[in-house]
Amino acid sequence: MQRRTLLKLAALSTIGLPHAQAIAGSNPTSSTHNTEPTTMDNVIIIGGSFAGLAAALQLGRARRKVTVLDTGLPRNRFAGRSHGMLGHDHKPPLDILAEARQQLTRYPAIRLVNARADSISGTIDNFSVLTGDGESLGARRLILSYGVVDQMPDVPGYAESWGTSIIPCPYCDGFEVAGQHWGLVWSGPQSMNQVRLFRDWTDRLTVFADGHEISSDIRADLAGRNVPVVDGRITGVAPHGSHNATIKLDTGPNVAVDILFAHPRNKPSASLHESLGLATADTPLGVVLKVDERRETSMPGIYAAGDLTNPVLPSVTTASWQGAMAGIFAQQSMLR
Ligand SMILES: Cc1cc2nc3c(=O)[nH]c(=O)nc-3n(C[C@H](O)[C@H](O)[C@H](O)COP(=O)(O)OP(=O)(O)OC[C@H]3O[C@@H](n4cnc5c(N)ncnc54)[C@H](O)[C@@H]3O)c2cc1C
Repeated sequence: MQRRTLLKLAALSTIGLPHAQAIAGSNPTSSTHNTEPTTMDNVIIIGGSFAGLAAALQLGRARRKVTVLDTGLPRNRFAGRSHGMLGHDHKPPLDILAEARQQLTRYPAIRLVNARADSISGTIDNFSVLTGDGESLGARRLILSYGVVDQMPDVPGYAESWGTSIIPCPYCDGFEVAGQHWGLVWSGPQSMNQVRLFRDWTDRLTVFADGHEISSDIRADLAGRNVPVVDGRITGVAPHGSHNATIKLDTGPNVAVDILFAHPRNKPSASLHESLGLATADTPLGVVLKVDERRETSMPGIYAAGDLTNPVLPSVTTASWQGAMAGIFAQQSMLR
């Protein structure tokens, strides 16, 4: 092996994101766009948040060599606090991740790198990943855990309110606003499940049709539950403080709520799975990767976990559990 490659390996094998960031930041000329992999890992994990780090933990404890690539944009970064994860309840999400990364420094086989995966290629036992820094990495298995991006509608104030005055999930933030006046942006017949669900937190709910047709049957059901429906499209959201918001409508007067629940469509944070033609499924909220009971995608050797695979009640707990399973099944698939 050439001395230059050895030096690069030595630098990259230093554990811990802060150090990896330092490497990435201090060497802007490292974009050499090698085609030969500079490392051969057992597993490369793409996306180092709750799912990806949980996978790395299992693999590191099994002493499997693993590289985690991450761009540092977890889905819940807009929320001040994360709820519902046992042992980490009510902590800022970025603090939970920082603590996790710190704990992973115990495991010499884990390498955390602050870089984007730009492309993936190859087949089982011989995958290649090209990073945004021009690094080419090799591995026997891949775990895709790059999450999804919520697509903000083109409504003034909506994106600014996301995670504070507009939130997606009552399990995440409902307790803090229980008993208050909630709004729900209707996104289709499936929204009726939310209406029924929300009853455990509040009996003051207003539905915003936001241009959707709501059938007379459903309207009657809502009326029977004392849930008013506000018709018209939402044209703006004016957040007040950490929760309250005024909803502006194209028809009729503004409506104030203490919190607005909404489920905008999302899409995978990267399109790497498309380049290999991995099987996906369409859901009312977006596209997810199909995985089997061992979390393997339609391509042997590629596993997936977290929100990228999970349209129903995505959470930090679910992502961590799925990530741990992906790590364990990827490891077990390499046993001889
Ligand atoms: C507003 C809001 C509040 C929430 N609150 C809660 C809560 O209180 N409790 C709870 O349990 N859940 C909550 N959630 C859900 C939670 O955020 C997700 O379920 C969880 O983040 C999913 O984890 P993940 O690892 O699958 O994906 P993510 O956390 O989204 O992480 C994906 C990671 O992949 C990285 N990445 C993307 N593309 C690439 C690439 N090409 N190369 C390398 N890295 C890449 C990203 O930067 C990111 O770090 C909330 C969600 C939202 C939107």
